[in-house]
Amino acid sequence: MIEVSNKCIGCNKCVPVCPFAAINMIDKKATMNEACTLCGVCVQVCPVNAITITREEASARDFSGFKGVWVYVELTETGDKSHQKRIKPVTFELLAAGRRLADELGEDLCAVLLCDKNHNYEKELGAHGADKVYMVEHEELFEYNTDIFSTVIVALVTRHKPSSMLYGATIQGRDLAPRVASALYVGLTADCTGLAIKDGLLLQSRPAFGGNIMADILAPNSRPQMSTVRPNVMKAGEPVLGRTAVVVRETAKLDRSLRRVKVLERKIEHDAGAVKIENANIIVSGGRGMKTKDKFKQLDELAKLLGGVVGASRAAVDLGFKEKTHQVGQSGTTVSPKLYLAFGISGAVQHIVGMKASDVIVAVNKDPNAPIFNVAKYGIVGDIHEIVPKLIEALKKAK
Ligand SMILES: Cc1cc2nc3c(=O)[nH]c(=O)nc-3n(C[C@H](O)[C@H](O)[C@H](O)COP(=O)(O)OP(=O)(O)OC[C@H]3O[C@@H](n4cnc5c(N)ncnc54)[C@H](O)[C@@H]3O)c2cc1C
Repeated sequence: MIEVSNKCIGCNKCVPVCPFAAINMIDKKATMNEACTLCGVCVQVCPVNAITITREEASARDFSGFKGVWVYVELTETGDKSHQKRIKPVTFELLAAGRRLADELGEDLCAVLLCDKNHNYEKELGAHGADKVYMVEHEELFEYNTDIFSTVIVALVTRHKPSSMLYGATIQGRDLAPRVASALYVGLTADCTGLAIKDGLLLQSRPAFGGNIMADILAPNSRPQMSTVRPNVMKAGEPVLGRTAVVVRETAKLDRSLRRVKVLERKIEHDAGAVKIENANIIVSGGRGMKTKDKFKQLDELAKLLGGVVGASRAAVDLGFKEKTHQVGQSGTTVSPKLYLAFGISGAVQHIVGMKASDVIVAVNKDPNAPIFNVAKYGIVGDIHEIVPKLIEALKKAK
């Protein structure tokens, strides 16, 4: 419920910022009409705190009207000079996970797309399993902005009432999801590594206590149930050509003044050589067992010969063998290459959680009981300082 108290001075500041034209100034007092979505933007701009929103006690609410699994569609620059955007791969991973959840619940899988100009994104979203695409096109959505995007999402959620909503645990998703959660007074489970349905609720699993245990989290008292999921944790499905989604176009009146952060300069790196371990097909990773920074450099050569990139355990990063951008694991990057080679990595749970989704894992370790062998498809018990040079030599000969 939204209320305007007698403190209202009729300053009119709330009227232009309302994205849904839901405020009229009647007798010098702000009055909300039925278009109000309780998004809360007016509360933020009121200089005399005259507007209050009271939300219902979650536990007392009936959630039967909340239906649909929603996936936030993240767009990213293509990286070339065209400045065009493409759908970030994590979106497809979430659609694959969301499809399974929606099927089990008997609900629709819906993609939520905010953009300034649509480039037929709905075709890809439909092919990847979305039944519906809620699309908001507006020039103010030309680039991500916390205030603008969260306002639109809050309004869409309030209007359509999904049962759950998934975001990538990316820089953008980690910024947007908490903001939406706090505006809606709902919970959020960050960095989920598993999603399932239990008794009609979203069962959200994530590592806890430094990765030593898995916590299963349910949110029975609020809707939507919201999670962020790290890229590369879930597998994207194959697109089904010809499978289409229904497009639901939504409008939002967005004012530039909603943006509290001004972008002064944008720098996009076009460096083709930049490390992108999250997208690599082959990763050659090293751990403390590599012993020195110089010896670790052999992995650069091996990765080059294999057409892959170099990864590292946290111990290797802490010892200065490689930069943090190469770290694989819970506090680094989650990867799922076709081939993951692990040299001198013991296989601590915090490392495994970041690479266990790799198609083929090959581990080399002198300790036959190293836990890395539990997830490896092929294991070699031996000295990496003998094996790595031999591998390099053999690959050079083969070329
Ligand atoms: C909150 C938290 C977050 C963390 N996040 C991460 C993370 O993101 N990524 C990560 O990797 N770790 C992370 N860690 C650290 C993790 O617990 C381990 O300490 C770390 O992964 C160990 O790295 P390592 O396997 O290289 O080193 P070690 O555990 O020391 O293993 C070295 C291995 O090399 C082998 N070896 C040594 N010499 C040779 C040789 N000559 N030939 C063959 N094998 C040899 C040894 O047998 C051993 O198995 C985190 C820890 C915490 C608490």
